[in-house]
Amino acid sequence: HAKHAGRNRHAQFNWSMKERQNRTYELEMGLRSAMANGELLLHYQPIFDTVTGKIAICEALMRWDHPVLGRISPAEFIPVAESSSLIEPITAWALEQACRDAMRWEDNVRVAVNISPALIKSDGLPRAVIAALMGSGLKARRLELEVTESIFLEDSGRTSLILSELQRIGLRLALDDFGTGYSSLGYLRDYAFDTLKVDQSFMRGVGEKGRDRAIAQSVAYLAHSLDVETVAEGIETEEQLRYAREMGFTNVQGFVLSKPIPLDDLLAMMAQMKRDRSNVVTLMHDRR
Ligand code: C2E
Ligand code: MG
Ligand code: MG
Ligand code: MG
Repeated sequence: HAKHAGRNRHAQFNWSMKERQNRTYELEMGLRSAMANGELLLHYQPIFDTVTGKIAICEALMRWDHPVLGRISPAEFIPVAESSSLIEPITAWALEQACRDAMRWEDNVRVAVNISPALIKSDGLPRAVIAALMGSGLKARRLELEVTESIFLEDSGRTSLILSELQRIGLRLALDDFGTGYSSLGYLRDYAFDTLKVDQSFMRGVGEKGRDRAIAQSVAYLAHSLDVETVAEGIETEEQLRYAREMGFTNVQGFVLSKPIPLDDLLAMMAQMKRDRSNVVTLMHDRR
């Protein structure tokens, strides 16, 4: 019986692994034509200034509408793109699209694009950034690249070289998901990031847990002392929003404010906020 169960487990393992391989293969094949077929799109999640309540940044988040499999999350297809060298043309596309889209909103609002860790070491990245800026006419200061601290895992001098080359072009660098990895203060000492995005896992407990609050508050304070802007990510409740503002975060991002939305919806939201002279602060008061 034990032998039988063991064989079954083995068979099951093989099966699910084969299925996974098939899906990965299908995604990889599909990704090759996805760009050309217009199946990739960018949604934007507005990030709000905690003082003015206005939109400060819009983060571009990629979606894939697969003709057969439906909408696929970037959490699934970005790793496939990363392991198949498709990440380079896909990122170049995202940069171009995001810069062109940002030209359609007011020029005090930046656009943020996520950059895969592996790409930081390629010379293709500065070239793609320059092409996107030139092609759209967007000012470099309005473009922010989001990278995670995993770019430092195998620190070659190359990483810091490319980072400073990118900043020399004039764009801004954000350290994304701070709090999920090693969160080393060394990264904040050695690299002059413009923005620090504090991961939602830090913000989740600020209401109930004094320890979470103390850490989030210290990170916000430290970044402020270093003249680095902060974004509190994944704000899902009004209580978290209140804490983020009290703790002095520069900006807030999360579902309680807005989910990632298509460009047209974003432009409509911007127009309406302007028309009503509304901002997140007044929106919050209206809801109470
Ligand atoms: P990220 O850069 O940390 O982006 C934030 C993610 O958190 C987004 O998920 C967003 O929808 C989600 N989020 C925002 N507010 C909330 C909230 O209040 N609660 C919760 N639970 N989630 C919230 P999304 O769009 O599924 O993207 C997942 C990840 O995929 C991104 O994490 C990013 O690492 C990656 N990604 C997305 N687009 C791109 C891209 O164009 N290039 C690359 N290289 N990676 C991308
Ligand atoms: Mg991000
Ligand atoms: Mg993030
Ligand atoms: Mg995150």
